[in-house]
Amino acid sequence: MKKGFKIALVVLLMMGLVLATGCSSNDGKEKVYYVGTEPTFPPFEFQNEETGEITGFDIDLIKAIAEDQGLKVEIQSLGFDALVPALQSGNIDIAASGMSITEERLLEVDFTDAYIDAGLVIAVSSDNEVIKGEEDLEGKVVAVQIGTTGAAKAQEFLDAGIIKEIKTFNTVDIVMLELINGGVDAVINDKPVTEAYMAKQEGKIKIVGDVLESDSYGFAIKKGNTELLEKLNAGLKNVIESGKFAEIQNKYFSGSEE
Ligand code: GLN
Repeated sequence: MKKGFKIALVVLLMMGLVLATGCSSNDGKEKVYYVGTEPTFPPFEFQNEETGEITGFDIDLIKAIAEDQGLKVEIQSLGFDALVPALQSGNIDIAASGMSITEERLLEVDFTDAYIDAGLVIAVSSDNEVIKGEEDLEGKVVAVQIGTTGAAKAQEFLDAGIIKEIKTFNTVDIVMLELINGGVDAVINDKPVTEAYMAKQEGKIKIVGDVLESDSYGFAIKKGNTELLEKLNAGLKNVIESGKFAEIQNKYFSGSEE
């Protein structure tokens, strides 16, 4: 009798232990989705000068989507050219970084539905009267951010024997500084971001010519992660329908951009 009771007690204790550990791995540790971004890309992602916090259109949008879908996210600052490898290795779960949906990238990662339209433009220093558009780039030196569609476009111009040299930088703030300091003749970068730098550096930069190439941004995730992709697309749809998307757009684009 006594022995039977002991055994029953041990079995009960063991069952309790199994239940307890089962619970802690499910509820106790909520999965964190790491969101990678390169924060020199206003108004999509930039550092708040006072708090140092990473903020912007993409950041508010991915947070709103995560909230809608009950996902916990954490923002991480990375080099732009490190984002796709970080998704592939699993170091981050989502790239929210003004990333254009391109055929080349679709071979390496999956994208959510597009959330905004953008495109590439040429920018020069305000006092430059020589370069008025793509046709005036012959023999010129062009600055770009590493791993971007702007860098790919500059490479096309170089391969075609049009421009003389490409100077590649890690961040867009340095690209723009190089232009202002006269280190390069022109910059190829996304239109809304170039406009944000124009506003910040009043009177120093101007856009010339037409949009070189139109594209759209999406959030990138590891290839084949259908579960996360479906959640992000569902969240994006809900955030658009609820009016939250328009609210974020107004906050960062003060009305009538694009
Ligand atoms: N939209 C461009 C691209 O995808 C630039 C992005 C960026 O610099 N953050 O390459």
